[in-house]
Amino acid sequence: MLPLGHFATGVLVAEALRRYVKRVPDPRTWWLAGGLCGLAPDIDCIGYLILALREGWRKAVLYDHHSWPTHAPIVWICVSLAVLLYLHQSYGTLLLAGSLTHFLCDTLTPSTGIMWLWPVSTTVIRPFSLLSPGFQWVIDYLHTPAFLVEIGLAALAAVFIYRALRSR
Ligand SMILES: [Zn+2]
Repeated sequence: MLPLGHFATGVLVAEALRRYVKRVPDPRTWWLAGGLCGLAPDIDCIGYLILALREGWRKAVLYDHHSWPTHAPIVWICVSLAVLLYLHQSYGTLLLAGSLTHFLCDTLTPSTGIMWLWPVSTTVIRPFSLLSPGFQWVIDYLHTPAFLVEIGLAALAAVFIYRALRSR
């Protein structure tokens, strides 16, 4: 999934959690935080900048960040629990839900898949595989039905936020 869909999914997750989480801040801040939590696991894309500096962009984009430990659910479960226990219960809960939803979306959309059981197993789960190398993956992904679903999620999140803000 592309960043647009991850952000939109995070916003929708934040709204779904809003009623159940204590000490929720103002809705706009909560939705923004939800979008960022939905995007959070892709922060490892910063690694591409480091690789590009060392090896050039052509080689850097051939790496698959889904195969890095930073894209393993257990890492984000641990980070979320640390935030939940030591920093802020509501944002920790949001990060847990947002990051796990991120991995669910990465699994259910055509990609190289996710290692759900890392470090116990490096088996990749990918019901809909799309193994194009580098930037070609983006081009190919734009032609899949999953991209239309992503656009739909983004539209749903935008309409929802617009309505919620108008009714205030
Ligand atoms: Zn991802």
